[in-house]
Order: sequence, then C-alpha cells, then structure tokens
Amino acid sequence: MTDRRGAAADTCHGPYGAGSGAAGCGDPARFEVARYQRPPLHVCPVHLGPSLLLADGVLWPPVISLIGGAGSDGG
Ligand SMILES: [Zn+2]
Repeated sequence: MTDRRGAAADTCHGPYGAGSGAAGCGDPARFEVARYQRPPLHVCPVHLGPSLLLADGVLWPPVISLIGGAGSDGG
C-alpha cells in the first residue's frame, strides 16, 4: 500500500520508543501514545500493547489517540 499524502508517513517507533537503538519496526503507525515530558510515541497496532508497558514515560492510565485523517476505514 502507498500513502499519497505529501507528508512523510509515520512509522512505528515501538515498542521502546525512538532512541532506544533497537531495530525499528517499520510498520505504519496507527496510534499515538502520550508520554510525560517526552514526544508522543507513534506505534503500530502490534506494538501498541507492548509500548504501553515498555516505553519510557507512558502515562497511566494510557492516553492513546488514533493517527490518521477522518473518514471510513476502507476494507
Ligand atoms: Zn510496530
């Protein structure tokens, strides 16, 4: 699948968050996890759960937002 948007597509930074040095996931991010005094973490559905438990600065209870424009999810 290709994204026609001009902006760079967000990729998953999970499950540890950027800067951890671990190999990137590379999947398109679908969720944004709010973090304390850190930039929000963008993760794919697979790493949403793990990121909540493993990433630094994740708020609790978790504050999660969907990434992506409004509209129906075409199947
Ligand atoms: Zn991922």
